[in-house]
Amino acid sequence: MNIKDTQSFSSSSSSSLPSSSSNSTSEQAIHNYNHIQQHDHDGTELYDVIVVGAGLSGAVMADRCARVLNKRVLVIEKRNHIAGNCYDYINEYGHLVNQYGLHIFHTNDVEVYNYITQFSDWIRYDHRVVARVYPQPSSSSSLAEEDTPSSPDIPACLSSILVPVPVCIETVNILCNQHLQNSQEMDAWLQEHQIRYDHTIQNGEEAAKARVGEYLYTLLFEQYTYKQWNKTPAQLDKSILERIPIRNNWDTRYFTDTYQVLPIKGYTHFCQTLLQHPLITVLLSTDFLELRQTKYPPIQPGNYTAIIYTGPIDTYFAHIGLPPLEYRSIHFDIQHVPIIPSSSPSYPQGGGGGGFAQSHVVINEPSLQVPYTRSVEYKHLPMNRHVPSTHSMVVREYTTHVGEPYYPVMNDRNISLYQEYKTYAEQVETEQGVFMLGRLANYKYIDMHVAIRNALDVFESRIIPLFEPPKKRQVLVKGED
Ligand SMILES: Cc1cc2nc3c(=O)[nH]c(=O)nc-3n(C[C@H](O)[C@H](O)[C@H](O)COP(=O)(O)OP(=O)(O)OC[C@H]3O[C@@H](n4cnc5c(N)ncnc54)[C@H](O)[C@@H]3O)c2cc1C
Repeated sequence: MNIKDTQSFSSSSSSSLPSSSSNSTSEQAIHNYNHIQQHDHDGTELYDVIVVGAGLSGAVMADRCARVLNKRVLVIEKRNHIAGNCYDYINEYGHLVNQYGLHIFHTNDVEVYNYITQFSDWIRYDHRVVARVYPQPSSSSSLAEEDTPSSPDIPACLSSILVPVPVCIETVNILCNQHLQNSQEMDAWLQEHQIRYDHTIQNGEEAAKARVGEYLYTLLFEQYTYKQWNKTPAQLDKSILERIPIRNNWDTRYFTDTYQVLPIKGYTHFCQTLLQHPLITVLLSTDFLELRQTKYPPIQPGNYTAIIYTGPIDTYFAHIGLPPLEYRSIHFDIQHVPIIPSSSPSYPQGGGGGGFAQSHVVINEPSLQVPYTRSVEYKHLPMNRHVPSTHSMVVREYTTHVGEPYYPVMNDRNISLYQEYKTYAEQVETEQGVFMLGRLANYKYIDMHVAIRNALDVFESRIIPLFEPPKKRQVLVKGED
């Protein structure tokens, strides 16, 4: 991989690259120039494939184009690092942490699993999440007071309680004062409490109530959803809540996939391995859309075969004048918590102890009483657990409407607006060889395994054919069959 930033690049090129004031990375050395280079008339190197975005989708596509097709790839990334939202680093306490929120890899897709394990070592990790619930009347809906259900018989002394999520037998037993023992009893309890509608489910609220019933909806989903989206579940598309996972057993894991792993050296290292190839050049701190305003030769039509764009679809087509799509973002508030490396056990209500700042890696906060949506302590992860440290990093996540686009807001307005953008996307694919890939370009929340699967599929079905020699036309001679 050749890594450049805009400044180092422009000093060695005659092209009109915009200058950048972004931080540079420690990896700007330009190496591995041992492949045959093709240049335009000014001497600027040209590439077969331009990949916009060095996140997971872009890195997989760059890897395939270089390693399978032997094509020259230029990756253009506007941030000063690779790996997109999966970016992680070692913090001051020696702990591997994610800059953009905790990322757990999980999949049932054996091909994707075989693919990732070619590039780095992974460790099994069964992720577990708890939610802090206030089961007394204070937990009643503040979104629609008149519709608030009454609480079942909850011990009055408890102000908050931690329960496993997704909802499983233990969650129901704790919150609803039940003594369910097995799947049959859990199924029966769900059947009794799930709301049935005599019309097709219309929105997120109905979808959630149809899954978990009124009471669990109020405690676990209503306010949490509001904090996440700044919209009530009733204002959201049903797709957001209709797949709330529910377990009819005692399994308290967050995911049930066959493969649940973490990269031992991190996702950044994984992406770096994908991009480590003599045919791949990475240009950091460079916004493709700004570059598009210049005459930068590699991205001029005719100088490349394909552009794979993994940025937001609405910013790509901003010049068309459609309104922007809506996204939710996250503000990460980093806490540095001193820890006592004692053997005292963690406190049951989420507090620290035993060398940790909080009792679980993730504590969800579904109540509006707490302004953030979850707190994450990275020291709990298997690669960090035994790293001696005086402090631990706890990151509180606040969902906001400003900042990096993280989650598409799936409501009627955005869904139909996205369809309009998609029409333009189809046009640039056919006319200019520009392919939309990844979570932002497809305006869809996707997990990492889906991002990889999509990249592999688009590579197979749409990129490989671009480089196949044209099929010989069969010339039929008159009289022959
Ligand atoms: C808070 C959070 C937690 C998550 N947790 C999990 C999890 O636990 N498990 C899981 O499987 N998935 C998780 N995900 C999803 C995961 O982050 C995505 O699946 C993955 O990042 C998708 O990769 P991508 O390459 O499509 O997008 P991105 O990672 O966003 O990469 C796109 C890249 O394009 C760059 N870019 C954009 N515009 C331009 C431009 N104009 N010019 C140049 N570069 C540009 C961006 O800077 C970015 O680096 C989580 C996501 C979030 C937000």
